[in-house]
Amino acid sequence: MTAFDKSNAWENDRAHVIHPYTDFSTFSNEGSQIIERAEGMYVTDTDGNKLLDGIAGLWCVNIGHGRKEMAETIAEQVMNMQYYNPFGHSSNIPAATLGAKLAELAPGDLNHVFYTCGGSTANDAAIRLVHYYFDMKGQHRKKKIISRQNGYHGATYVAASLTGIHGTKTGFDRIGEDFITHVSAANLYDKPEGWSDGDYCDYLVREFEARIQQLGPDNVAAFIAEPIMGAGGVLVAPDGYHKRMWEICKKYDMLYIADEVVTAFGRLGEWFASEAIYGYQPDILVCAKGISSGYIPLGATLISTEIYDVISKPQCVGGVLSMGLTYFGHPVACAAALKNIEILERENILGNVKEVGTYFQDSAKSLLNQPIVGDVRGSQLMMGIDLVADKKTKTPIDMSEKAAGTIFQKCIERGVIIRPVGDCLVLSPPLIISKEQCDQIINTVNESITEFV
Ligand code: PLP
Repeated sequence: MTAFDKSNAWENDRAHVIHPYTDFSTFSNEGSQIIERAEGMYVTDTDGNKLLDGIAGLWCVNIGHGRKEMAETIAEQVMNMQYYNPFGHSSNIPAATLGAKLAELAPGDLNHVFYTCGGSTANDAAIRLVHYYFDMKGQHRKKKIISRQNGYHGATYVAASLTGIHGTKTGFDRIGEDFITHVSAANLYDKPEGWSDGDYCDYLVREFEARIQQLGPDNVAAFIAEPIMGAGGVLVAPDGYHKRMWEICKKYDMLYIADEVVTAFGRLGEWFASEAIYGYQPDILVCAKGISSGYIPLGATLISTEIYDVISKPQCVGGVLSMGLTYFGHPVACAAALKNIEILERENILGNVKEVGTYFQDSAKSLLNQPIVGDVRGSQLMMGIDLVADKKTKTPIDMSEKAAGTIFQKCIERGVIIRPVGDCLVLSPPLIISKEQCDQIINTVNESITEFV
C-alpha cells in the first residue's frame, strides 16, 4: 500500500490545493471535508462519518463506488500496457474496442469517436471539429455557435464560454458573444404566467430562429444543448423543444451538439437521452462522467458518419487532422469504460433507473409542502429542488440567507450528501440506488428544510 499522509491531509489540502469553486472567505478557516473511502452508495470521511452519496460524486459514479472488478480491470491494463502514444496510426486494444462499443450503443450513425480527458475537453473538441468540418466544406464563415443561458459545458476556455451560468463568469474573461452567443434557457418553471407549455416552446424556438437570422445563417455553425440542464439547476424543457430546435438546425445547415456529459450512460434510464427520449439524432454527442463512472477520467466526442466523411477526406488541410491530446484513448481509461459498460449491462442498471427513478421523482413531490420549495423537477435520477421566498410569485430566496448551503450542511449532519447550486438543491445519486435509499434522501432533505425554516 502507498503510504499517504493521512494525519496532515486536512492541513496539506488547506495550504496547497486550490479547489474548484472555492469560497476563499470560508476555506482558510474551514478547509475541506476529506473523503477517504467509498463503497456502493456510501463514502466515508477522515473523521469516520459514513455518508449516503446523493450526488454520485459529481453526477458521475453511475455504477456506485468501490467496485473490485473495476480495480482489477484497471490494474490488469496497467500491467499489460499502461500508456503509449495515440497519435497518427498508433492505437491500443481498449480504445479500439470501446470505439466499436460506443458506435453500437449510440444513436443512428454516431459511429466515430474522438477521445478526450473529460467533458470540457470533449466540448472543446466538438467545437474544433465543427469548424474543421465547415472549413473542409469550403464554408469558411460558418463558425458562430449558439449556446444557452444557464447551460453548463465545462471549465476550459471554450467550454467556459459556451457555459451560460452567470456565476461562473465572475472575474474571468471569455470568448465574446459575437462568436458564442446565448439564447434563453428552456425551463418550464420560468414559463410566463398564462402561457401553455406549447406557447413557451413556440417562444423559445422563435427566439432561436430570430437569433440565427440576426447573426446570418451563413455564419452560424452549431447549437449546443444539454437534454436536461444539469449544473444550471436541473432545468427541464417543454415537450418537443429539442426536436424542434434540431429541426431549425437542419433548416439552416447547422450542426446540433448534444452535451450528454450528465445524461449519457443511464441517468435518465437510457444509454443516451437524445434519440431514445427526445426523438432526434444529434450530429455530435459529447459524453464523459458516466462513461467510466468516475473510476478514471475519460471523455468522448461522437460524430456522425456524415461529419466523419467530410473531415477524413484526404484533400483536407495538410492532409492531417491536427488536434489531439496526450491521453487520447488512454488504454486504462478505455478499459475501465468497457468494464463499466459491461456492469451497467449485466446488472440491468438502466432498468433499475426506470423503476426507482419514477419512484424517486414521485416521492420527492412531497417536498412541495414545504413553504420554501417552489419546484421539484427533473427526470429519473436527476432532480432539482428550487428554494423560493414566495411560492406564488416564484421570487427566488434571498441568496444572503445561504439557504441551499445551510440545508446542504444539515443533510451532511444527518448522513446524506446533496448538492447546493445557487438557490437549488440538486440530487443525482448513483444508478444502483434502492427505493429505501431514495426515501432516506428525501426524508433527510425534508427534515433539513424543516429545521432551516
Ligand atoms: N458538460 C456538462 C453537461 C457537465 O455537467 C459538465 C460537468 O459537470 C461538463 C460538460 C464538464 O465536464 P468535466 O468537468 O469533466 O470537464
